[in-house]
Amino acid sequence: MNKIYVTKSSLAPYEEYIEEIKDIWDTRILTNNGPKCKKFEQLLKEKINANNVSLFVNGHMALLSALNSLGKKGEIITTPFTFVSTIHAIIQSGNTPIFCDIKETDYTIDENKIEDLITDKTIAILGVHVYGNICNYKKIQNIANKYHLSVVYDAAHAFYEKIDNISTSNLADINMFSFHATKVFNSIEGGMLTYNNEDLTNFYWNHKNFGINGPEKVIDIGFNAKMNEFQAAMGICNLRYIDQEIKKRKKVYDRYIEKLSKIDGIKLNYIPSNQQSNYSYFPIVVEEKYGMSRDELFELLEENNYYGRKYFYPLITDLECYRNIYDSSMTPIAKKISENVITLPMYSDLEMEHIDSICRIIKMKK
Ligand SMILES: *Cc1c(COP(=O)(O)O)cnc(C)c1O
Repeated sequence: MNKIYVTKSSLAPYEEYIEEIKDIWDTRILTNNGPKCKKFEQLLKEKINANNVSLFVNGHMALLSALNSLGKKGEIITTPFTFVSTIHAIIQSGNTPIFCDIKETDYTIDENKIEDLITDKTIAILGVHVYGNICNYKKIQNIANKYHLSVVYDAAHAFYEKIDNISTSNLADINMFSFHATKVFNSIEGGMLTYNNEDLTNFYWNHKNFGINGPEKVIDIGFNAKMNEFQAAMGICNLRYIDQEIKKRKKVYDRYIEKLSKIDGIKLNYIPSNQQSNYSYFPIVVEEKYGMSRDELFELLEENNYYGRKYFYPLITDLECYRNIYDSSMTPIAKKISENVITLPMYSDLEMEHIDSICRIIKMKK
């Protein structure tokens, strides 16, 4: 049997991509905000109802730019239950991460624990919409207003989602999305910021192009983080299929829920009725009463050629580059979830027979 991995990149038909990139051979514009990037930006804006959009070579550089655009340095309240990019970006932008624990229900930042962490150095709250579960944006915004803080979301997992009928592109001052190959929507690699303050458009354009603002003018210590035309062309093609893609993912999600919902000790992630999900991941949390550890179940699945992922494990504060600086016991819920979670294979054309087989293994423990 072939190995089934946690994800498989979605690709628009080959012919469509070839058609889309054809005129690059006429224009010879390969990068530097060319016509493909402009077209992609416009299409995205309409699709997700964003006020302002800036494209980047990847999500990480987009997030780093977002943090550099805050204009201040200091402490940023976030969680360790995320991909390393979030914390790297905080540090690379000259800020200090302050770790807040997550909620056991949806793995996002616990909004009730944020205020205790605010000091006179705090400049922002950086929430992560984990697995596409959207943060409590209302409460977080209220706290931010009270203490005059910025709100930035790492929405890498949450493209084309909605909560209370509001697009994830409009939930904070700045929202970052990743279009990496492994995400629900990809432009090979790619990233995007959506934001309300129009003045930031110039900042981002300069910043992702070395700070260059004219033939003889460099106004900012930027870097090179521009999306190129081939990435944008892939994004344009894949965007045509996003609704279809999500519909297929919902079928996979529904099947998993149906088959796994009554297994003692397996905790599932249910999507709240006020959220429109993109079904990016299918996490299960293995509880003690299941009778087998997370690692044992993980290995059993692997023996059967099903390759899930312990995502996010180890917790960021336990990684080699951070464990001597931070203490993961300060965020016990994040630590516990990290040690017990598996994200199961999840992609749009995952066959029902494989889902059933994965569920059978989880149920029978053999
Ligand atoms: C993927 C991801 C990123 C980084 O995005 P890239 O496009 O891979 O640079 C950041 N944060 C989270 C939560 C992610 O999952």
